[in-house]
Amino acid sequence: MQTGSRIDNIQEFTQICREHRLKITPQRIAIYRELLNSDTHPAADTIYQILKKEYTNISFDTVNRTLLTFAKIGIVEVVETFGGAKRFDPNVTNHHHIHCSQCGKILDFYSRAYDKLAVPDGVYEQFQVVSKRVILKGICKDCRQ
Ligand SMILES: [Zn+2]
Ligand SMILES: [Zn+2]
Repeated sequence: MQTGSRIDNIQEFTQICREHRLKITPQRIAIYRELLNSDTHPAADTIYQILKKEYTNISFDTVNRTLLTFAKIGIVEVVETFGGAKRFDPNVTNHHHIHCSQCGKILDFYSRAYDKLAVPDGVYEQFQVVSKRVILKGICKDCRQ
């Protein structure tokens, strides 16, 4: 199921915030922009470490809560992680992930073939499936060097 599309401009972002009666603050815009600038599905702490240089009064808690609020209004997604900190994804279109098992980065990829993967019958008996994502694991180019 497609729930929306990636919002690439801040205007659209502020529009959606307004629709959800979410106050638009410079910090919120900065958090969203940082998420858009990253393609590795950062954790709240990663974004916090970047932003605290520019926004000296920003706290980890603010960043974390803001990201969770973004998830609630559907402009970001909390992605699958295996035990670690929550990771965030501004890409809410149908796509798949590959995880680097060494540095932990998560990258997007697209595959028509994967989109069309059939859900086994046994699953449908127990679940109403709302989305499908294939997750691959590997070692990225940077880590192989
Ligand atoms: Zn890596
Ligand atoms: Zn993604």
